[in-house]
Amino acid sequence: MTTPSLKLQAIDIHKKFGSNEVLKGVSLEARAGDVISIIGSSGSGKSTFLRCMNLLEKPNAGRIVVAGEELKLVADKNGELVAAEAKQLQRMRTRLAMVFQHFNLWAHMTVLQNIIEAPIHVLGVSKDEAIERARKYLKLVDLQGKEDSYPAHMSGGQQQRVAIARALAIEPEVMLFDEPTSALDPELVSEVLKVMQTLAQEGRTMVVVTHEMGFAREVANHLVFLHKGCIEEQGVPREVLGQPKSVRLQQFLSGSL
Ligand code: ADP
Ligand code: MG
Repeated sequence: MTTPSLKLQAIDIHKKFGSNEVLKGVSLEARAGDVISIIGSSGSGKSTFLRCMNLLEKPNAGRIVVAGEELKLVADKNGELVAAEAKQLQRMRTRLAMVFQHFNLWAHMTVLQNIIEAPIHVLGVSKDEAIERARKYLKLVDLQGKEDSYPAHMSGGQQQRVAIARALAIEPEVMLFDEPTSALDPELVSEVLKVMQTLAQEGRTMVVVTHEMGFAREVANHLVFLHKGCIEEQGVPREVLGQPKSVRLQQFLSGSL
């Protein structure tokens, strides 16, 4: 039985690239309204873990459950897990929206087109409703009036906020962020973090890979420290960051890992 408030369960995820064992059995559970930050050194497996959750990477073992629905997986000839049903995967992906480090907006489309694409073509929402949603979420990310701009004419901070509006427009159960501010000029970081803080205050369920310790400490309610493909330590952010138990985390926080 699953608790109704459980929005996301990633259970015992394993992933190898060749002989490189990148995830050695990583699990994470997000309940409604949870903001979970994942921290760890470069190469510790953070992105791979997020990508396994929506099968952008094929795990070698593990289970993914979104809002009580388990993603049906089968092993392919390489021993990697793939979706048993393409339709289910497509549906599950609309319940887990991903925001990437490099925004991944479609350059040839306007802001509005970027946002309405998935609601219309994946969710089957009418064009009018999709436009209404786009306007609502553009307002939320403080970009009202930018509907007809092209990504190339916007700052990185604005582009990332469009990417967040695009993710919101599919009205997902959980939002996954992979270092959403790492590609930004320092002066643009705070406008994106501010939007993410608003989303957290609205009670949205979020999993955020980040190097922003302020965000991890102040906004997240749970912190996971990943080290070489294992969860080395986790808990309440203030406690984990204030009194880290593991030597690895102490080293990471002091900048020597
Ligand atoms: P992080 O996001 O924590 O920096 P990643 O999940 O990107 O770490 O990478 C973890 C490890 O997996 C690294 O050793 C990286 O080189 C390797 N890796 C990631 N993606 C691939 C890939 N597509 N093919 C081969 N190795 C990969
Ligand atoms: Mg990464």
